[in-house]
Amino acid sequence: MTAHIIDGKQLAATIREDVAQRVKALAADGLQPGLAVVLVGEDPASQVYVRNKAAACEKAGLASQVIRLDAGISQETLLATVDQLNNDPGVHGILVQLPLPAHMDSARVIEAISPAKDVDGFHISNAGLLMTGTPLVKPCTPYGIMKMLDAQGVSLWGAEAVIVGASNIVGKPMAMLMLAEGATVTLCNSKTRDLAAHTQRADVLVVATGRRGMIDGTMIKPGATVIDVGINRGDDGRLYGDVDFGSARTVAGAITPVPGGVGPMTIAMLLVNTVEAAERQRAS
Ligand code: NDP
Repeated sequence: MTAHIIDGKQLAATIREDVAQRVKALAADGLQPGLAVVLVGEDPASQVYVRNKAAACEKAGLASQVIRLDAGISQETLLATVDQLNNDPGVHGILVQLPLPAHMDSARVIEAISPAKDVDGFHISNAGLLMTGTPLVKPCTPYGIMKMLDAQGVSLWGAEAVIVGASNIVGKPMAMLMLAEGATVTLCNSKTRDLAAHTQRADVLVVATGRRGMIDGTMIKPGATVIDVGINRGDDGRLYGDVDFGSARTVAGAITPVPGGVGPMTIAMLLVNTVEAAERQRAS
């Protein structure tokens, strides 16, 4: 079997086009959705992510501003910046790029963002709403994965969904979204005994660990849908996923590539979340 390759780039382009249309309609009404991205320090990967997010915003007609702060600033200065953005009516979405420098408490900074402007969906009140089945803002990466599964016609109702990686930004919200669609969800972490016994059961397997190639074809159920979230830079400068693509694609029914799978969808869903935040703020 050779797996169908799920083209995240193409689906993301369609979603971005839809966002651009919604932005046009809002502009006719005198509203331009605005996203503020706060970047603290010089982390090279973060700089690339922030640049890509800002470029995507501009292309879709959203107003975007990147606030670059020195790695040595105090947490109080960062909190004051967030507070200013919370009170700026032209800013509908706020994103603080993670990771923050070690002297800062990320949880405290995220809690300082107004939940209405928290377009990453990481604020504790948005996490709580997701947990209780009434999400307001869905975290971009798992939200994008749900859109991909839907576009592929993958039904989660009664399906075995296994997620490897249990972070607050990917694995845990992914579990909640899949559970809400009727999947039987298994959430694995670094302490999981016999990981393969779990992954081999999965009708839908999502891998988000940051460990290059840790899932190979022997760990995949024939015909499964495999979603690779991992982004790992090899010594050759290229990007690799957490799934060993070569062996996995001979077993899986469908698989996302890295790059060109989940990554573009994450950015597309950030645009969706920002437009929806603007629409909600106008209505309130
Ligand atoms: P974290 O480091 O926050 O979490 C990693 C998770 O993987 C933890 O739950 C950890 O377990 C688990 N884990 C680590 N090793 C193993 C193992 N051997 N077996 C099972 N579980 C393991 O990572 P993130 O969730 O932030 O990111 C994961 C990957 O996804 C990274 O490569 C990141 O770059 C990428 N990413 C990609 C995005 C995209 O848009 N494509 C967006 C966000 C992230 P434990 O809890 O026990 O420590």
